[in-house]
Amino acid sequence: MSDRYDVIIVGAGIIGTGIARELSRYKLDVGVLEKKPDVGWGTTKANSGIIHAGYDAKPGTVKSSFSAPGNKMYEKWTEVLSVPFKRLGSFVSTEDESQLGKLEKLLEQGEENGVEGLEIITDRRKIEELEPNITKGVEAVLYAPTAGVVAPYKLSIALYENARANGVDFQFNSPVNDITKTSEADGFEFYVEAGGSRYEGDYVINAAGIYSGKIADMVGDDSFSIFPARGEYYLLDSEIEEYVRRINFPLPTEESKGILVTPAAEGSIIFGPNHQPLDKPSVATTQTGLDQVLNGAMKLFPDIDTSKIRTNFAGLRAKAGSDDFVIGESGAARNFINVAGIQSPGLTAAPAISKHVIGILEESGLELSEDPGFDPKREPIPKFAEMDTEEIVSYTDKYEAAKDIVCRCEEVTRAEIEEAIDRGATTLDGIKFRTRSRMGSCQGGFCTPRLIEILADKLGISPKEVTKKGDNSYLLAEETKKGE
Ligand SMILES: Cc1cc2nc3c(=O)[nH]c(=O)nc-3n(C[C@H](O)[C@H](O)[C@H](O)COP(=O)(O)OP(=O)(O)OC[C@H]3O[C@@H](n4cnc5c(N)ncnc54)[C@H](O)[C@@H]3O)c2cc1C
Repeated sequence: MSDRYDVIIVGAGIIGTGIARELSRYKLDVGVLEKKPDVGWGTTKANSGIIHAGYDAKPGTVKSSFSAPGNKMYEKWTEVLSVPFKRLGSFVSTEDESQLGKLEKLLEQGEENGVEGLEIITDRRKIEELEPNITKGVEAVLYAPTAGVVAPYKLSIALYENARANGVDFQFNSPVNDITKTSEADGFEFYVEAGGSRYEGDYVINAAGIYSGKIADMVGDDSFSIFPARGEYYLLDSEIEEYVRRINFPLPTEESKGILVTPAAEGSIIFGPNHQPLDKPSVATTQTGLDQVLNGAMKLFPDIDTSKIRTNFAGLRAKAGSDDFVIGESGAARNFINVAGIQSPGLTAAPAISKHVIGILEESGLELSEDPGFDPKREPIPKFAEMDTEEIVSYTDKYEAAKDIVCRCEEVTRAEIEEAIDRGATTLDGIKFRTRSRMGSCQGGFCTPRLIEILADKLGISPKEVTKKGDNSYLLAEETKKGE
């Protein structure tokens, strides 16, 4: 027996979850196969979280056609899903007036891409009004007021929850290892093997991020390859979040937008990323890379308090050979849709890409009948740290577990943690991305033992079976015996 779907999506990053949620508007059986135990754990959780204005992409590229339109869809997307999104505006800065031409070129490119409100500012007083602590040497900036920041992992979780509530089936720990194109007599197009199970589908959407080249190979599509390029970051404490007000870029290079300094959507400040092409995917950070990141950030904010650096991480760009997004039906297999090579600004473009893919499916014959029961709204987990006194009183009256603060740095209650588990978290990272516990100053030093206890209790497993992020990322070895 195999499960049967109208549409099978491979990969639950921002692209897979975005498309799944869009498809959940229709009367369809949709299945998402994800190799990790949770959503958004590929590139989606490890990027700058910027919703770019849309001036970077060269006009005429696939990227450019989705960037500014994606940006414009963000208010609506995040509001209905209750995900933090802030339009802070971005700066591209230069200390050298002779580089003004480069800013003008970006402005023209942006206007051609449909970006609104772009402005070059050379008045130092105005620059400081908008960004008080930027280095004194900055002579000119390209200001893009429509750029914003979002918590990308929160967004993919929200899309997942809403798609699931509207009927989409998510299979985790399900790495796709084979796809067979069936014969016409079978009445469906594909067999997909994943995690020891077999699924039948009429359509397959390849949204497997840096592994999308491998998934395409499975149906004989070798029209593109993916080349991973690592980007490393430093993350600072939310204590100094006010120090940086906008999204700050240096002048871009051919390879990347450069090392930026930006507030994150949920507080804290981010430095990064650098750009390191790799032979094999790896998200390990390196001292050399992190030094590059720090040097880049210090050029923009030389007086920032680097003692507030709390952690570092890295993400992988999924760069196709063409250096552009690869979106469309495969030339090698009918009803197989690639949504691949989604490097930056893929997060920005995601809402526009998701809508576009529905159009591709419809054009290739998928019948789309709207589901009158579709509910676009998703409620967030109530956040104790953001409540006023009245709300705290009614919340703690309602839930005994709300009186128990587990993560002291971010003020996360046991009620929030239990709700995160009820909503699908099965690991410590799953709880972290939903509640921010272990994201504060102590990075889990105090709350990790409590979290293990709560997770084991709720899932009915032994604390030894609790993992940080699935696979063999266990935290405990043996119970200590009395007297040892
Ligand atoms: C350093 C860096 C900075 C960036 N900054 C920005 C930014 O500021 N703004 C912006 O707009 N964009 C940015 N991006 C780009 C953005 O992060 C990506 O475009 C986006 O996250 C891609 O999402 P995705 O769903 O395609 O891929 P992913 O998030 O990688 O999702 C793919 C999913 O497929 C799963 N998968 C893989 N193989 C299999 C398999 N065999 N079976 C089942 N599942 C599988 C993975 O586990 C993963 O969950 C940045 C990227 C990087 C690397």
